[in-house]
Amino acid sequence: MTRAAMSALDQLYSAAPLLLQEVATTWYGWRVYRRRYKGIFAEEARRVRERESWSTEQFIAYQIQQLRQIGEVARHSPFYRERFQLAGFDPAALEKPADLSVLPLLSRDQLRLHGQDMLTARPEHDVTTYKSSGTSGTPRNIYRSRRMDQMIWAYWDARCWNWFGASHRSRKAVFGVRKVHPVRRMDPPFWRHDWLTGICYFSIYHLRRENLAHYCRELQRFAPELMLAYPSAIYPVARFALDEGVSLPRPRGIVTTSETLSAEQRRTIEQAFGCRIYDQYGAAEACVFGATCEQGHLHVSPDFGYLEVLKADGKPAEPGEMGEVVCTGFLNELQPLIRYQLGDVVRLSRLSHCACGRNMPIIEEICGRVEDMLHTVRGDPVIRFDPAFKGVHGIREGQVVQRAKDLFIVRIVPDPGFSADEEATLIRNMELHLGPGHVIRVEKVAQIPRTASGKFRAVVNEMASSA
Ligand SMILES: [Zn+2]
Repeated sequence: MTRAAMSALDQLYSAAPLLLQEVATTWYGWRVYRRRYKGIFAEEARRVRERESWSTEQFIAYQIQQLRQIGEVARHSPFYRERFQLAGFDPAALEKPADLSVLPLLSRDQLRLHGQDMLTARPEHDVTTYKSSGTSGTPRNIYRSRRMDQMIWAYWDARCWNWFGASHRSRKAVFGVRKVHPVRRMDPPFWRHDWLTGICYFSIYHLRRENLAHYCRELQRFAPELMLAYPSAIYPVARFALDEGVSLPRPRGIVTTSETLSAEQRRTIEQAFGCRIYDQYGAAEACVFGATCEQGHLHVSPDFGYLEVLKADGKPAEPGEMGEVVCTGFLNELQPLIRYQLGDVVRLSRLSHCACGRNMPIIEEICGRVEDMLHTVRGDPVIRFDPAFKGVHGIREGQVVQRAKDLFIVRIVPDPGFSADEEATLIRNMELHLGPGHVIRVEKVAQIPRTASGKFRAVVNEMASSA
């Protein structure tokens, strides 16, 4: 569908009466359901479940076979043919996953510019292009066939929802980017139902304090078994329910994605909903898939893609060290992504074994985005600021902005409890966290703007954009 047609449809939707909007939501939901779960989905989910008990050796053998296969397929695209030739890379000769390192990294800019040249065949009618926007810049088009989408959803089902007793059939509350309620309308309902597949979509654009009681009531009435949400979207609901003593439903689990989750957000959301948060790690590019197990560890699925975590010098980061995510997906044979720089910074765990028994590597922490990496005046990288907010009360949301080499702004949305003492503690914490030689200012704002795709950013590097 063209952009103009989409926008016309959006306008039509906004003007339609409530009942028609729910019919449209149900129609949309049914189409999504068919694309994801009809066809090869059930068989794929069974296979994914079967592989779950594999040993590390079995996973590595599978990775070698998959890397050879995706390499062979990639040769059908002009982009990779040339790349392999220049590097002298022969997929058939690959003996271990690390042999892939003779190939150069694939940047997000290259995907944006040469995405078409990476296609290994002409896209068929069932191919959808997904946009990966990142936090800034022009979106990249990711081509995914219907078959591939079903494989991805097989992982969601078997390696995420099933792990806490839910499934693709569970009743779901979704706090996502879909504008289900006209943004200018300030009266409830701020949600729409998909009656056929049992999903309630909540608007994340109306989460003002005066509306939150409505959200809580509808959640309680709808009683979701599973919630999918941006942490920044359900955090205000959870905070409100705890502060006002309003009851919330108890889903089996809450799956958060896309944003880094602070310790305070996690505590509040888990307490308010009386269930655990299961973080899911992935991207529209679909070359890495991670989900949280019963023990609270984020496992990366080695049969979904080959993950490398690299330091600035290109060498693999040791467990416990921060490094950039580089991944090679096994699922996309139409547009292979080989050694793709996803843009995230993570730390792999030092744990070689999890009590859940799965032999899948563990990500200790998703630290943030590469472009959000800030540096102290001494040049040390710093990306997480949780310690700065520790023990500081009366902050609804906080964001750290670096404006100059030595100038950091802490932008906060204060609650009535935020006093001069709290501000002094915050500044002291920041000084301790960054070390000497920085100017730190606190800026109080009514709200912190989201990105174009509705995401909250905990850290912003304003030096990069002004340079
Ligand atoms: Zn585990």
